[in-house]
Amino acid sequence: MQLMMPKPTKLTRDTFLYLDPKPPFATFAQCETCMMFTGEAAETCTIHGAKVRVTKDHSCGLYVHGTPMPDEQGHEMASVTPEESGLIKAQVRCENCQSFQAQKTTCTLFQWLSRGWAFALNPKVHPHGCCNAWSSS
Ligand code: SF4
Ligand code: SF4
Repeated sequence: MQLMMPKPTKLTRDTFLYLDPKPPFATFAQCETCMMFTGEAAETCTIHGAKVRVTKDHSCGLYVHGTPMPDEQGHEMASVTPEESGLIKAQVRCENCQSFQAQKTTCTLFQWLSRGWAFALNPKVHPHGCCNAWSSS
């Protein structure tokens, strides 16, 4: 009897946590539109703890789109370190990424990776989208 080997599954964009934008597009993926942010008065993040200063123009890989929650001030927990989350002070949307090709609104990194056997990444991205492979342009 011949053993059937499972077909390798190609990895898609969720591997990189690609997110299409939600309004407001201009601040998508920044702390100011993340529900873990405690707001501009406190400048903390619920999961980074009270000792890490986080401003509205930071971002990290654990972004959760939503309305900031000032009521969480004083209840922050240091569940992740900035190194673990990839905390960064930068505008992290595709429009500011070195892999973004503005004319075709495509991601050259996704195109390049999809030439190999392991990835099947849709290279069409939104200028205000983002992913965890963002890199400063
Ligand atoms: S540091 Fe990350 S989890 Fe915290 S508010 Fe900013 S994007 Fe959200
Ligand atoms: S352009 Fe940059 S941020 Fe956008 S999907 Fe590609 S690597 Fe990610």
